[in-house]
Amino acid sequence: NTVTYKNYDVEKYKTPTGSHLTCKGWVQEAALRMLLNNLNPEVAERPDDLIVYGGRGKAARNFEALDNIIASLKKLESNQTLLIQSGKPVGILQTHTDAPRVLLSNSQLVPNWANWQHFDELERKGLMMYGQMTAGSWIYIGSQGIVQGTYETFAAVARKHFNGTLKGTLSVTAGLGGMGGAQPLSVTMNEGVCLVAEVEEWRIDKRLETKYLDVKYTNIDEAIDAAVAAKAAGKALSIGVLCNAVHLLQRLIERNIAIDTLTDQTSAHDPLIGYIPHTLTNQQANELRTKDKEQYLALAYDSMKLHVELMLALQAKGAVTFDYGNNLRARAKEHGLQNAFDFPGFVPAYIRPLFCEGKGPFRWAALSGDPADIAVTDELIANLFPENESLQRWLKLAKERIAFQGLPARICWLGQGEREKAGLAFNELVRTGKVKAPIVIGRDHLDTGSVASPNRETEAMQDGSDAVADWPILNALVNTAGGASWVSLHHGGGVGMGYSIHAGMVIVADGTEEAAARLSRVLRNDPGMGVIRHADAGYDVAIDTAKKHNLTL
Ligand code: NAD
Repeated sequence: NTVTYKNYDVEKYKTPTGSHLTCKGWVQEAALRMLLNNLNPEVAERPDDLIVYGGRGKAARNFEALDNIIASLKKLESNQTLLIQSGKPVGILQTHTDAPRVLLSNSQLVPNWANWQHFDELERKGLMMYGQMTAGSWIYIGSQGIVQGTYETFAAVARKHFNGTLKGTLSVTAGLGGMGGAQPLSVTMNEGVCLVAEVEEWRIDKRLETKYLDVKYTNIDEAIDAAVAAKAAGKALSIGVLCNAVHLLQRLIERNIAIDTLTDQTSAHDPLIGYIPHTLTNQQANELRTKDKEQYLALAYDSMKLHVELMLALQAKGAVTFDYGNNLRARAKEHGLQNAFDFPGFVPAYIRPLFCEGKGPFRWAALSGDPADIAVTDELIANLFPENESLQRWLKLAKERIAFQGLPARICWLGQGEREKAGLAFNELVRTGKVKAPIVIGRDHLDTGSVASPNRETEAMQDGSDAVADWPILNALVNTAGGASWVSLHHGGGVGMGYSIHAGMVIVADGTEEAAARLSRVLRNDPGMGVIRHADAGYDVAIDTAKKHNLTL
């Protein structure tokens, strides 16, 4: 409450809630509420700059564009479509009631110009904005999404290697930043022990405050002892230790400690800002970074190479080791470590089998603003999928441990068949008045059929089609054809300019018959695209899923 903003007007941009319309229909209303929700200071990292999350991921290009989007949504008829070009509204066209109310394209560049340098130039001229994934497509719901994705990854690790639970296992990692901070909670939610190295004490304290982390140690040996004891007792416990990742791994090897899983979420994607070399203290790092950039980078690369060598050594001793999307392996390889890619990325190792079943980060928000509406949907989902154990565990823990940010929302991974079932059931809740206002349903762009990103989501595809970007484009087209409420096509999310193309979709359950028909089409076709994409690449699970759900290949 004490924060004051220069540009962001807390009253003017407050998200409407309740069951009364401020637009001419619920679909337009949903777009307005979700746009403003993305910018709600409880949700957005920097509302004053319209930045929602993920570096500079924005919801609108500038405040003038934001005001024009709001005004456009308020006058938009239910047979019209608003066009958004990189965060700016550029026109309203006549369409029809089943068409999307908003179509968005963010940060698209012709491939030969698709780099940060050219993007920065356009951004400076006010011609573009970076939409990240759910920032520019108005369906970000705060840190719940990150916790759930990380939880799902560790659940997949548990299923593949540890009979479905991390109970009695020790997971080692590093980095307690914005996203990495979700690791300890995700491991304990899977009943395991997590030991995390972090060089900045305030980050550890922040995770303790939000209950994402259980305890802090400043002595490496004491932290290791506590982790080993908790593992032996089969107790779920997360331990943050104030040290460099390299020093923790060196000590684990010296003491010959058996560890079960190993990964890393330091910001190795950005060697100058995000990775602290083990040969420097934080203060020395801060000084050297500005004083001698080249020297800093040399030390960071030495350190990242050693970091990966230690990970490979622990892998050889039996630790299940994977890269967590921070490009650490690539950095080590750039510095001459030829076998840096001997441990896999997390998508090919754990997430792809889920993608093959059409599974991905399905999410929804209560437009009423009332948490009781989410409680109703939680119960419904738990009853719809009683056989899905990790989903049941997630729902229970999410209720206990996740605080809502902005509009109450929920995320859970659902697959082919399940999403359609859930969407239609939500529409019934609205129709029968069991919730106070419509429910808006969407997903991350990191999903089964909606992204081409060769260093992450499409790394090591079985047929080598990692860089083929026809799929996300077909995904956006098919969701438009099916009648999603708004559809977006973005470039550069997650991994930066030139490295990814991805699509988003959102659909509103307003309790009408027309909405039911749209929900049925869109929530079948959207994950269906993922199943088709993976079947086309030759994955047997996807071919079986297609057969089981009568998807014509
Ligand atoms: P962040 O910059 O907020 O946090 C990084 C943390 O690592 C900081 O707290 C920093 O102090 C710490 N750190 C840096 N060097 C260290 C070292 N040598 N030893 C110990 N601690 C060190 O970043 P974030 O948002 O938490 O994301 C972390 C990384 O993970 C990024 O590279 C991000 O792209 C990646 N990531 C990928 C996915 C995915 O692929 N789905 C998901 C989440 C995060």
